[in-house]
Amino acid sequence: MSTKKAEEKYSVYFRKYQRMLDCIFCQIAQHEIDATIIYEDEDVIAFEDIDPQAPQHILIVPKMHISTLMELQEGNHAIIQRLFSVAQHVATLLHIENSGFRVVLNCNPDGGQTVYHLHAHLLGGRKMNWPPG
Ligand code: AMP
Ligand code: ZN
Repeated sequence: MSTKKAEEKYSVYFRKYQRMLDCIFCQIAQHEIDATIIYEDEDVIAFEDIDPQAPQHILIVPKMHISTLMELQEGNHAIIQRLFSVAQHVATLLHIENSGFRVVLNCNPDGGQTVYHLHAHLLGGRKMNWPPG
């Protein structure tokens, strides 16, 4: 295997496993780190983004550690359904269900993912632009 290929493979494993050890969203889900929690149930937690990109910016996070959308296994696909169901609920709680909002899921470096624990962003309270940056 070439050095470049080995580095790419290592980088994938790093994202998948290493970050699980000190994952900030796992710590928030376990109430070890403070966050402004908007909604929580057995499987999902939703809290305010620490660096909001819109007047309303909520992260919707499965409690199970899955690093990226690409790591989602066949048996876990119901999680995506739950994330959207909670997005719908949170949009209603924030009274932006009719004005509108955007749900974004960043995957891996080119997708803009910085926290390697699967999550969806719910953004609202202003008109969103298209195309996204
Ligand atoms: P992404 O870039 O899609 O992986 O999104 C990660 C998001 O997590 C960013 O919007 C950060 O502002 C947000 N974030 C990072 N640390 C925290 C934290 N401790 N509490 C709330 N949001 C956070
Ligand atoms: Zn995690």
